[in-house]
Amino acid sequence: MNSHRRIWIKAPLVSLESDSAGGVVVENQLITEVLAKGEQPSMPVDEVFDAREHVMLPGLINSHHHFYQTLTRAYPQALNKSLFSWLKSLYPVWAKLGEEMIEVSTQVALAELLLSGCTTASDHHYLFPAGLENAIDIQMTQAEKLGVRVHLTRGSMSLGEEDGGLPPQSTVQSEEAILADSERLIQRYHDPKAGAMSRLALAPCSPFSVSEALMTASAALAQQYGVRLHTHLAETHDETDFCIQMFGLRPLDYLEKVGWLNDRVWLAHGIHFNDEEIRRLGAAGTGISHCPSSNMLLASGLCPTLDLERAGSPVGLGVDGSASNDGSNMIQEVRQAFLLGRLRYAAADITHQKVLSWATEGSARCLGRDDLGRLKVGMQADIALYKLDELRFAGAGDPLAALVLCGAHQADRVMVAGRWRVIDGAIDGFDLEALIQRQKTLAQRLAV
Ligand SMILES: [Zn+2]
Repeated sequence: MNSHRRIWIKAPLVSLESDSAGGVVVENQLITEVLAKGEQPSMPVDEVFDAREHVMLPGLINSHHHFYQTLTRAYPQALNKSLFSWLKSLYPVWAKLGEEMIEVSTQVALAELLLSGCTTASDHHYLFPAGLENAIDIQMTQAEKLGVRVHLTRGSMSLGEEDGGLPPQSTVQSEEAILADSERLIQRYHDPKAGAMSRLALAPCSPFSVSEALMTASAALAQQYGVRLHTHLAETHDETDFCIQMFGLRPLDYLEKVGWLNDRVWLAHGIHFNDEEIRRLGAAGTGISHCPSSNMLLASGLCPTLDLERAGSPVGLGVDGSASNDGSNMIQEVRQAFLLGRLRYAAADITHQKVLSWATEGSARCLGRDDLGRLKVGMQADIALYKLDELRFAGAGDPLAALVLCGAHQADRVMVAGRWRVIDGAIDGFDLEALIQRQKTLAQRLAV
C-alpha cells in the first residue's frame, strides 16, 4: 500500500494537461499539487517517479461494457451479422453463463482495461439465469481484488419473445424480481461519496428487451436512491423500426415518455438521432457513451458526437462488450474514435486531444463524477503513464499525438486512487497466464 505517502510523478515527457509539465504530487488517494515546468513540490516527498519517458494522462474511463462477453469473442455463429441477428445467435449461449464464468470474465475484462490505462470501468450486466442471481456481487468482489474503480449497472431484461421482445423467454426476469434485486444492490454497493471505488446504476437493457413498465419503475427507483440510469439507445435502424411498431414512438420519444430524458441518464451508442432529437438530448444534459469499434463491427452507423457535444450532452467513450469489439482496450478505443470521427467531421475538429478528453472527463461526466477525469488538485489520483519505446513509435514527432496516431496498446504504469496497479506493464501481484488458461477452458465449455 502507498497510503499516507507523498509521491511525486515528476516532469513527464508530455502531459495531456499542459499546466502539469512539472508533474503532480499524490498524497493518499488525491492529487494534492500540480506543478508547472521546473517547479518543485512544496514539501518533501517519500517517492519520486521519474516520468521523463512517459506520456501522462488522467486514467481512462470506460463508460460502457459487458465484461461477460469476453467469453464469446469472435464467436463463429455470430460473425458477419448486424445487431438483432447477432444478438439472437448469442442469447442462447449467454443463457448458460455460470458463476465461475462471471468471476473469470470479469477479471479478464478488468485486466485488459487496466493494462490499457483504464482506471474506472462501467459494466452493463443484464443476464441472470437461474443460479446466477449474484452476478453483480461477483463482479464487485473481482473489481475490489484488482483495485479498479467501478460503476456497475444492474442490467435487466423483462420483455421476452412471447411478449413481442427479442430475447428468448429463458433469459428474462419478472419486473418484481428485477426491482427487488436492484434495490438490494444499491443498498449494498452504491457509495455516493467523493472518491468512491464502487457505484451502482440501473440499466434496463434496451427498448426491444424491456417492458415500458420496468423503464418507468427503474426511473422512479433511481430517483429515490439518487443513482444514475443507463441503457442502449438509437443503436440501429432495426431498433427505431421496433419502437415505432411496438410503442408508436421513435426511440427518443419513448425515452422521454418513460421519464428518462434528463441529466442522470447516459446512453450507449446514440447513433440514429435527428437534429431535433439531438437538441432535446443536449438541453436535457443526457450523456452519450460513444462505442466506435462496436458500431463499426456491427455496421450500426456513425454517432454524431460533436453535434451532441455542441448541443450540451456529455460525450464519453466505451469499448462496449467484447463480443462486438472484440477487445477491452481503452487506448485503442481512443484511436478508433479519432479515425471514425474524421469520417464525419473536419480534421481540425476531431483532434487527438478531443478524443482523449472523451475518454477521460467526458466519460467522467457520463458517470456523474466530478472527482475523476482531470489532473487537478483535489481530484482522485487516477493516472495512466505510457512509454513510447515500442517499435510502433520509432521516429514519432509529437509524443501526445503519437500515443493516438501510432496506436498505443499498453500503459507502462497505472495508478488508481493513489495505488500503483500496473508497474512496468504488468498488473501488480496478478497471474495473467493462469487467468488466460481458465478463461479459455470456460469459453470452450460455454460454446458446447
Ligand atoms: Zn452494449
